[in-house]
Amino acid sequence: MPTVYPLHILLIQALGGKLMVATKTSAGTGTGTVCKLLVGGQWVDSSATEYQPVYNPSTGEVIAKTPLGGKDDLDKACKAAYDAFLLWKEVPVVERARVMFKFKHLMETHYEDIAKCVTREHGKTLPEAKASVQRAIEVVEFACGIPSLMMGESMENIARNVDCETIRHPIGVCAGIAPFNFPAMVPLWMYPIAITCGNSFILKPSERVPLTSMMIADLLKEAGLPDGVFNIVHGGKDCVDAILDHPTIKAISFVGSTTIAKYIYTRGTANGKRVQAAGGAKNHIIIMPDADMEQTVQALQASAFGCAGERCMAGSLALPVGDAAEALIPHLVQASGKMSVGPTDGGSHPDMGPLVSAEHLAKVKSLIEKGEAEGAKVALDGRKIDAAKGKGFFLGPTIFDHAKPDMTIVKEEIFGPVLSVVRVGDLEEALAVGRDCPYGNGAVIYTQSGRSAREFKRHFNAGMIGVNVGVPAPMAWFPFTGWNNSFFGDLHIQGSEGIQFYTQQKMTMTRWFEPKAPKNKDGNFQDPIWKAKT
Ligand code: NAD
Repeated sequence: MPTVYPLHILLIQALGGKLMVATKTSAGTGTGTVCKLLVGGQWVDSSATEYQPVYNPSTGEVIAKTPLGGKDDLDKACKAAYDAFLLWKEVPVVERARVMFKFKHLMETHYEDIAKCVTREHGKTLPEAKASVQRAIEVVEFACGIPSLMMGESMENIARNVDCETIRHPIGVCAGIAPFNFPAMVPLWMYPIAITCGNSFILKPSERVPLTSMMIADLLKEAGLPDGVFNIVHGGKDCVDAILDHPTIKAISFVGSTTIAKYIYTRGTANGKRVQAAGGAKNHIIIMPDADMEQTVQALQASAFGCAGERCMAGSLALPVGDAAEALIPHLVQASGKMSVGPTDGGSHPDMGPLVSAEHLAKVKSLIEKGEAEGAKVALDGRKIDAAKGKGFFLGPTIFDHAKPDMTIVKEEIFGPVLSVVRVGDLEEALAVGRDCPYGNGAVIYTQSGRSAREFKRHFNAGMIGVNVGVPAPMAWFPFTGWNNSFFGDLHIQGSEGIQFYTQQKMTMTRWFEPKAPKNKDGNFQDPIWKAKT
């Protein structure tokens, strides 16, 4: 079978339906192309015998195959990662950061190609893909500052002649398990920080979108990262289970759905590992009657339908308060109905692209049917769009009005371009809907009132709050602070908590005795350091 190459060669490949000269970081693709593993700096074959197709969601064609590897592949990666860790942890942190500076430069140089790869395997529009690559670069920028960010603390004379210090050490081989929805950004939430802290890393990208991670891995090598510090394995459940059980792996970062996040946390911690596991979400958008409706319509549209709703921070539940519903909903439905939906790969620039796979599209459609059956009113039906007739996995913006808090579409994460509207009487009622929600990623209020905003900020049951912003996803130097079933663990991904997660502290207490002898002729003892001290 053809393979996805060690990518340090110039390839000519089809991107977006037309031939272009790709850079030396491009992943080769084709119907039968099988992704390789990156182990100890070499691209090698998996021992897997089963494969998951990788689609171009705009056309429905298979562009590669992900081997569904397991323990055998992981054993090799763990050995390489552990050997590399022993050397890498001894490299001064400032030198480790210099690799990140070069990596950042290379990410910027290949920004367009990376974004195109994201678009090709995931379906995001090119501007959305570019924005996600930019967010990924910002994590690398943050990692460049780790020499000062991982400094310890110290205090002298905590008792007579006793000093105390803490030093942050790396923890060893770390692993990352990624979801499909941000092929570049989410894996980069993890490994730039882990690596610069002195760990080695094994990434298991989503089996649905492995190509972008492979392309970026070549840039890490080009930046001078020693072989084995960053490795890639491919697979699904078997591969993940092998990661959860492998004694060499000390810490696991996971991003994905809540059911799997909880499983990862439970099994990983039972095996004595550190685990940070970010899960699914249902994000509430509260619109007060005093909100700037024009701005709110635009922001809501972007929040609910950006990235085709495949975002853990997508605003998927609107709660207009009182009169806000009449002022907002007709405009929102009209504006959303005008959004263009179509192929994102091939030079056209629709407002919204396809969903990631036919399977996921079917799941989202079945939830829409459930919403109708449970009595919500379909105010905009995304199933009735022209693009749906093609072979890509398309669904247009869909809006349910008059949804009720006990409906499935309100309680469950849909992860598609579907916005449910629950009309509420006051802010207290909106807060109550949030309190009953099992998730707790993001929530936003649109208002011109400082008091409403303050009450909302203080009392809404979620970890990432926005006031008049579309998507309150934190920048790289803040942690991604999901609550409730949107996060399992103690230290969140990114920012200062990311550094704490990937390091362990060593405390040293030091005492130096004052000499008891020799004494001088007057009977006082002579201090070899302080002449005057007697
Ligand atoms: P998913 O949970 O299906 O898959 C995530 C990872 O888990 C993949 O690498 C997959 O191989 C692995 N996996 C899947 N099933 C498994 C099983 N039974 N046992 C062990 N491992 C398994 O998630 P997805 O569909 O790829 O991504 C979408 C989900 O990710 C959504 O729920 C979304 O909200 C969530 N997400 C959350 C955040 C966040 O920060 N909270 C960010 C992005 C995405």
